[in-house]
Amino acid sequence: MNLQRIDAHSHVSFRAFRDDEDAVIRRSLEEGTGMLAVGTRMETSLEAVACADKHDGIWALVGLHPTHVFSSYVDDSEMADVSTPEKFDIAAYRALARRSAKVVGIGECGLDYYRLPEGGDHEAIKEAQRAAFRGQLDLARELDLPVMIHCREAHDEVLRMLEEYREAGRPIRGNVHCFTGTWAEAQRYLALGFYVSFTGIITFPPRKSDLGQGKETLADVARQVPLDRMLIETDAPYLAPLPHRGRRNEPSFVKHVAAFIAGIKHVSVEEVERQTLQNVKALFRI
Ligand SMILES: [Zn+2]
Ligand SMILES: [Zn+2]
Repeated sequence: MNLQRIDAHSHVSFRAFRDDEDAVIRRSLEEGTGMLAVGTRMETSLEAVACADKHDGIWALVGLHPTHVFSSYVDDSEMADVSTPEKFDIAAYRALARRSAKVVGIGECGLDYYRLPEGGDHEAIKEAQRAAFRGQLDLARELDLPVMIHCREAHDEVLRMLEEYREAGRPIRGNVHCFTGTWAEAQRYLALGFYVSFTGIITFPPRKSDLGQGKETLADVARQVPLDRMLIETDAPYLAPLPHRGRRNEPSFVKHVAAFIAGIKHVSVEEVERQTLQNVKALFRI
């Protein structure tokens, strides 16, 4: 299959695509956009693997998202019932990762301290998230697979965990997805050998509170991330880039992320797509 680009992070099997998943996939593949289908818990990981097994140009990641280790988070575009908490079962994920050659990574996994429930026991939830994350880092090491990291408001802690693994002689490979952190944080991921990926958020005008003297925007951060360490993604169905902002996102829209990055880096769109395609293939060995 002749791919021009790969959407490094999408959820094409989520409920948001229940009526037209095949059509969305066909439109993407026909224009040369492959994709990584990323799981967020056991059900969606199973769906991601089934989707990858069915289509050339799609690969799967299996993992447990940090918001699914506790019960309050409900997102109706993901699946019918996402409110049941899941404990990371390493044996079950190991078996799933081994079941198909199309499984190329573990995730999304990480820490999310942004969506902690009001009134919940935050320390207990954070501890459960850390345990699930460590379990997935261990599985990634064991299977020699890269991880897809999800992180909100916890970059320092995620980085310290990754740095600990490296110092212990057990380095982790991977990508930090939907990056919205600072250049200082991006540099620490790069120093660990990680790739950094950007979604349609990069195409949104910065909030007024993000502007001002000495403040960096996400575009300022992306401008400094070397192209050979960057991936492009949609996180579909979420975060549709301009000009589709506010609508359901889909993998074919990743070209708008590529175009925006080309603009801020003063290179051609073809160059961004060629290099990020090479990057995603190298990291996930596809
Ligand atoms: Zn995520
Ligand atoms: Zn995601």
